[in-house]
Amino acid sequence: MKILVPVKRVIDYNVKVRVKADGSGVETAGVKMSMNPFDEIAVEEAVRLKEKGAATEIVAVSIGVQQAQDTLRTAMAMGADRAILVLTEESPEPLAVAKILRALVEREQPGIVLLGKQAIDDDMNATGQMLAGLLDRPQGTFASKVEIEGESVRVTREIDGGLETVSLQLPAIITADLRLNEPRYASLPNIMKARKKPLETIAAGDLGVDVAPRLTVVKVAEPPARKAGVMVGSAAELVEKLRSEAKVI
Ligand code: AMP
Repeated sequence: MKILVPVKRVIDYNVKVRVKADGSGVETAGVKMSMNPFDEIAVEEAVRLKEKGAATEIVAVSIGVQQAQDTLRTAMAMGADRAILVLTEESPEPLAVAKILRALVEREQPGIVLLGKQAIDDDMNATGQMLAGLLDRPQGTFASKVEIEGESVRVTREIDGGLETVSLQLPAIITADLRLNEPRYASLPNIMKARKKPLETIAAGDLGVDVAPRLTVVKVAEPPARKAGVMVGSAAELVEKLRSEAKVI
């Protein structure tokens, strides 16, 4: 079984994101970019499924600018076998990404598409669900456990206040949540090996998908600055401040 893993290049999660002066978006020039953390978890899970013998090939795919090649090389250093870059200058919205992925699914015929649950730059949490809808395939979102059982896959889902276990008929769409696994670091030899793995580039237009944005960003703003805290001398003083200043008790 083949697993397709979509990986997005986003601002590194350690970077303090700065809003552009005109409020039209966030500053990306000269900013460190990395693989979306949930996609690292998805790659790790695909590699573990292959190590267990449940998968035979892992194909990483990224939709974005030329530099997304670096993200794909990271996925291959972690264990993906090959990669596809769908080149576009636009930053595609989830529906366009889902349509591009549908075209690749039709071409590659993977048993599982294993995405991150959410990209940390736009926090959409939509692409996996849209892809499942477009393909009319079962979906297991927010996965914290994935077990292949013959022609189906059992997915444990993180839901409000507990866990839900669903059994999906393959082929299926899965999105990875935080507790699914802890991604490995790519070793130096594997980084070197990844340089030689195949990376195919396709223009988004060649897949017949219109990536033009449908949403208009009206304004992007910093959250309000928080006031500095104060040190209190005793529990009694804290209670007094909570009562008279914060007025919360
Ligand atoms: P989102 O719906 O934007 O929060 O993204 C959810 C997941 O879809 C991500 O974790 C990725 O696995 C995948 N995805 C979204 N955008 C892209 C992209 N441009 N390239 C590759 N994968 C993407």
